[in-house]
Amino acid sequence: MNSSLMYIAMLNTVVNAKPSALITINATGIISHVHITGRSQASLALLTGKRLLKLLRLVFDTHNSQLISNAFTTCLASQQQTTISQFKHISSRNLTEYFDCTLAPGPEKSIIIFFQNVTESVLFQEELFTITEQHESLNQDLCVAMANLDFHLMDLEHAHKKLSALYRITAIVQKTVNEKEVMEEILDGMTRELGFINAAIFLLDPNSQELINKAHRGYNDKIRVSLGQGVTGYAALHRELVYVPDITLDSRYIPGTKNGFSEVAVPLIVNDRVIGVLDVETSQEQSIKAYDLDLLRSLASQIAMTIAHASHVNQACIEASTDGLTNLYNYRHFQNILQQEFKRATRYNWSLSLLMIDIDYFKHYNDINGHLYGDDALRAVAELVRQYCRDTDFVFRYGGEEFVVLLPETTVTRAHIIAELIRKAIAEFPFQNSNNQPGGALTVSIGIAGYPDNAASESELIDAADTALYSAKRSTRNRSCLYSTNIS
Ligand code: GH3
Ligand code: MG
Ligand code: MG
Repeated sequence: MNSSLMYIAMLNTVVNAKPSALITINATGIISHVHITGRSQASLALLTGKRLLKLLRLVFDTHNSQLISNAFTTCLASQQQTTISQFKHISSRNLTEYFDCTLAPGPEKSIIIFFQNVTESVLFQEELFTITEQHESLNQDLCVAMANLDFHLMDLEHAHKKLSALYRITAIVQKTVNEKEVMEEILDGMTRELGFINAAIFLLDPNSQELINKAHRGYNDKIRVSLGQGVTGYAALHRELVYVPDITLDSRYIPGTKNGFSEVAVPLIVNDRVIGVLDVETSQEQSIKAYDLDLLRSLASQIAMTIAHASHVNQACIEASTDGLTNLYNYRHFQNILQQEFKRATRYNWSLSLLMIDIDYFKHYNDINGHLYGDDALRAVAELVRQYCRDTDFVFRYGGEEFVVLLPETTVTRAHIIAELIRKAIAEFPFQNSNNQPGGALTVSIGIAGYPDNAASESELIDAADTALYSAKRSTRNRSCLYSTNIS
């Protein structure tokens, strides 16, 4: 390492700063080495061999030049490091600069003079300080922006959840109008889309004024509460959303789930009428947020409408296929079911039997007792027929005082036995004034026919049963008659 670089390194350590200029002067005051930051060594070579004072006057004013020259003499004599702090200098660019000048004894009685432009470093520090401040302020702005973004993202996530749950619930109507299926779909949406583990739909029974748990996820089965009872009943009675953050602190709470901690009950209201309650219970870990309440509130009105629509359609379907007097399926429904059951019978090679039942001398009964008693008798006959049928059989009011029973997977032999049971039960039933009937009782005649024995199509099956009935009527009445080719 050459000596000047060594001194630079040395002085760097002494003043702990980057040098602006370094000059080495021998004992006679002649410059032997010059190093100025930012200047090439070639341009500075001219200065070597010149007198120190001459160089100083090239750069500084007379006062400062003399100051440094005197310090040089002192340092040379004392061999002690000397420093002149912050002497002022007006630069060629007319800028006021401040320099620190350090003079240190070097080898062979030389003196090393080190200049540091304080102003530059101060300016630099100031600039650094300003940049740091700006950076910090930008950082703060960025933090605020990030927080806002987070907030908006939460809003977006919330809106997305709400929309997809609403979409799912509105789409249910296109899938099914079956009340039970609709409620199951709603609960699927509540658990899958919204992440509620425990959710239940209670519907209000208008007769008992009880809220009955019709479908649920995670609730105890068969819960029913009176209007006003429990958190659910309270919500329905007061027609308001009830939020209980900690159920252990609420005396209204009736346990509904195993791990419940908070509960929300939202009344389901359609056209100003409470039809039920949407209930949600969450565990301690899954706390309910303000937006959950908002979401449940908006969902409840959509759910209420969907359920009401389903039960309305259900009701309309039931009415369209049922007979108002006897509550049996009607002729229209018979046509559909016959078609459906005939298809099943032919496809799986099952037998299918049909009973055609007609009340004997019913005109007489009406004439004697009046139409109202006639209606009662029709209802009673319908009920008796129903009692002798299985859940898988179908009983229809075919028209007037005629009934039809479809017995899937039943042979004609078995159907004949059932027909006889029905006939006897009716003959023995104590109808009002039945002793005034011909034969002393209100009775029925029954025609029986079956697939595959007597018919190859639906219409053939009806015709065969009708023929058998006609045959029963032609004999004694109060009879059941199995179709055969011998009868006509
Ligand atoms: P049969 O033994 O040959 O069957 O004689 P019937 O009198 O039962 O037969 P008919 O066809 O002559 O009369 C059927 C009667 O059923 C006529 C009608 O007043 C009565 N009827 C039909 N529908 C109703 C109803 O909804 N209510 C009442 N009370 N009577 C009905
Ligand atoms: Mg008739
Ligand atoms: Mg009749």
